[in-house]
Amino acid sequence: MTQDDLKFLRIALSEAQKSYDEGGLPIGSALVSNGKLLAVGHNRRVQDGNPIAHGEMNCLQNAGRRRRYDDTTLYTTLSPCMMCAGTTVRCAPARPSNSASSGW
Ligand SMILES: [Zn+2]
Repeated sequence: MTQDDLKFLRIALSEAQKSYDEGGLPIGSALVSNGKLLAVGHNRRVQDGNPIAHGEMNCLQNAGRRRRYDDTTLYTTLSPCMMCAGTTVRCAPARPSNSASSGW
């Protein structure tokens, strides 16, 4: 894990704290390309009453549509569920990364 990985995981963790402070589930994400932060997001299931508003989905939605994702890394504070993992595979960031495990 690099210093940049730690920096972006801390940003994802900050997003998780934001969700917690809003009364939601403490899960946050950050999407990065070539060391540049593209978007952040956090779980909004409780806040929005939306069962699919997971942190990873919120982050990807906030990033908007991109032509390609193979130059991106998605940082998240929890191992993604099947929906988020499937979306991540579909978008295919080069380096999905999370604090719970590495190398998926
Ligand atoms: Zn999910």
